[in-house]
Amino acid sequence: MEVNKICQFCGNRFVAKKTTTKCCSDDCAKKFYKKRKRDEKIQASDKDLEVQIKGYDIEEIQKKDYLSIKEVMLLLNISRTSIYRMLKDGRLSKLQGFKSIRIRKVDLDVLFRQKVENNEEKQYNLPYFCDDNYYTINEVLDVFNVSSGSFYYLCKKHNVPKIPKGKNVYVPKNLVNIIFNNE
Ligand SMILES: [Zn+2]
Repeated sequence: MEVNKICQFCGNRFVAKKTTTKCCSDDCAKKFYKKRKRDEKIQASDKDLEVQIKGYDIEEIQKKDYLSIKEVMLLLNISRTSIYRMLKDGRLSKLQGFKSIRIRKVDLDVLFRQKVENNEEKQYNLPYFCDDNYYTINEVLDVFNVSSGSFYYLCKKHNVPKIPKGKNVYVPKNLVNIIFNNE
């Protein structure tokens, strides 16, 4: 059997005895094999290079069960200071028995979930904007007989949304009522 082929190394036309032959000669075959190996190495090192430039491989970090401070920073995109604060106030705990600080990834997952839930809780749906649903600040001061200073303090404490409209600032009635009933 004779097959007309083009050598994959030197590009010359040649007649092969098998369809699987890739090169015109043993010499070209050897060089072609070497080149292929080299290309594979380059491909592998391209990924290494990317990791080297960035300084980390996020995929590798995600696979880990125990993380260093640096890895937590990269994974959650938070500062070193926040991590140390969380370690100090007990929101995070470090593992014992390691030379440097190690944090369990499951602990981060729990922390993260809590954070998300808390945020959802604070979401307050504003009622439809009409006089029935809102007090102006002045009305609040009149109705509840408070000083603007103490009302300001209460608004801050309870995260009361303030809506400026025209020359007035409005606050949701139901929320303010609840606050004054409880205070
Ligand atoms: Zn050749």
